[in-house]
Amino acid sequence: MKVVVYSVHNFERDFLLRANTEKHNLILLEERLNKTTTSLGKGCKAICIFTGDKANAAVLESLHQLGVNHLALRSASFNHIDLTKVRKLKMKVVRVPAYSPYAIAKHTVALILALNRKLIRAHHGERDLNFSLDGLVGFDVNGKTVGIIGTGKIGSVLARILHGFGCKILAYDKEKNKKLIQQYNVKYTDCESLFKHSDIITLHIPLAESTRYIINEHAIEMMKPVVMLINTSRGGLVKTKAVINALKTKQIGAFGLDVYEEEEGLFFEEHSEDILMDDTIARLMTFKNVLITSHQAFLTETALRNIAETTIYNLDCFENGIDNENEIEL
Ligand code: NAD
Repeated sequence: MKVVVYSVHNFERDFLLRANTEKHNLILLEERLNKTTTSLGKGCKAICIFTGDKANAAVLESLHQLGVNHLALRSASFNHIDLTKVRKLKMKVVRVPAYSPYAIAKHTVALILALNRKLIRAHHGERDLNFSLDGLVGFDVNGKTVGIIGTGKIGSVLARILHGFGCKILAYDKEKNKKLIQQYNVKYTDCESLFKHSDIITLHIPLAESTRYIINEHAIEMMKPVVMLINTSRGGLVKTKAVINALKTKQIGAFGLDVYEEEEGLFFEEHSEDILMDDTIARLMTFKNVLITSHQAFLTETALRNIAETTIYNLDCFENGIDNENEIEL
């Protein structure tokens, strides 16, 4: 089956080809899916897309007219897909529901530790022959209260790791995980109380209309002074301008982010010859207590292999008309 694969990055190319074993005719494109690139999907019943590809109503309409009726996502989340339109057009969407919650949970821990122990600052200082320890004081993570917002696959792995660190764990989720309560002493609470009592707050819920800007001025006001905030989930959960203001007043003591609300067209790409046009991220980058990675939390060999293998499985199911548990229920 011919499948146009949009937004293919060098880091995933070999994994996709290896998983495919030449079964499908994969057309690997660097182009992102948008209104002007839909025509590249001509002649395909299925296309394959990544997190930066926007399948909005107009794009879906034009794909549908070309005969594309199947979207295979190389991601777990689907906040970039207009599901109402998918339903109307009777299209099918499959995803990779889990590829390695460990990868994202451990990247979250890496951000917490690197920010707390000022590893990046120390590294840069030493390259300038500055071996002084001034400005590098951290805190013992042991005994601190960590607020985990979202205890699904990633949040629950993180809770187990942080329990091992000796942290007290508060959690907010619409569904309680009994195992976390019994084995890892996780205490579920409401969002307000989590904001008030946590030394570190970390986000692991999906982006939806109800969760957009869950971290805003009002939420930040409730937090402990110099709280550490971590976002490895989706940029739209955090109102970046409110965080910048709170970094200026030291209400937020450190901010680690792997996702950014305006990351599209910026993250995943090389811009070293360009002028940075986004003043918000430019301001964020001036803080010494902000650590930015560009949506790389998932980026392990295991995760890439799993994404590629599940994607090919999803395409096999589609080609052979087999029911697939990875299909998004509409
Ligand atoms: P999951 O579906 O297993 O867990 C999400 C949890 O959030 C669930 O327990 C659910 O009950 C809870 N939840 C959903 N909506 C809620 C709401 N409105 N209020 C309270 N709780 C709510 O998902 P996961 O695999 O753990 O992934 C979490 C998020 O991590 C994803 O949505 C995605 O945005 C992000 N992610 C980031 C990367 C990365 O590379 N940075 C990679 C994968 C996933």
